[in-house]
Amino acid sequence: MRKPIIVGNWKMNKTNAQTKEFIDAVDSKLHEHADFGIATPYTALHTATSNAKNLLVAAQNVHFEPNGAYTGEVSVEMLQELNVQWVILGHSERRQYFNETDADINKKAKVLLEQGITPIVCVGETLEEFEANQTEDVVRRQVKESLADLDPQKAQTLVVAYEPVWAIGTGKSATQEIAQNTCAIVRDELKNLFGTEVSEAIRIQYGGSVKGNNIAEYMAGKDIDGALVGGASLQPESFLELVEALNK
Ligand code: PGA
Repeated sequence: MRKPIIVGNWKMNKTNAQTKEFIDAVDSKLHEHADFGIATPYTALHTATSNAKNLLVAAQNVHFEPNGAYTGEVSVEMLQELNVQWVILGHSERRQYFNETDADINKKAKVLLEQGITPIVCVGETLEEFEANQTEDVVRRQVKESLADLDPQKAQTLVVAYEPVWAIGTGKSATQEIAQNTCAIVRDELKNLFGTEVSEAIRIQYGGSVKGNNIAEYMAGKDIDGALVGGASLQPESFLELVEALNK
């Protein structure tokens, strides 16, 4: 059985004070049916890990080199020191605005798994690709290239997030059928890479306009093990609606 995993991706939102306020409102109201986490900006990670007892904490990016002349970047060791448990890799906003490639994501995923931090690797097609019926090709290629040559044993802990780019922050969510079908394609590609057993252990999230009133429907899909949530993860009230929707 794969344990559900719900992660709020805060993007470039919230100061340290706002992070503490959120954690104070949410942390004691979680339950054991799922892993719940927040991906804060780098500046709020320490506040998050030192205040959260139940919420898990993720960074939104990392550099693959251990140190050196990379102005503005943060290493895996720096995140480890803050007890960060997960790192989101290859979010479509990073691919689109910061030119991140599958090859970059692959290097980052390798270093993270070696150091015992779980990568949440994002894949998903653009609106243009969706309309041209290229979803399957795009998603298979992204999974294959961003997760190439990983140690299958370590890869079991991976999380993959399928996020159709056209459904992110647009209020246009994919139908449950599209989400489930594409997550099944992701799992099939994971099977090609790592074999059946490992592919069955890896958790796959859907992301794109997920809220308290649609999360349960997505999660009914047999290959959907959780959600990566942007907008609805920012306020304690809307985050707690996600928590409650899974309290069954
Ligand atoms: P959204 O964002 O829930 O606001 O659509 C999802 C994401 O970018 O991970």
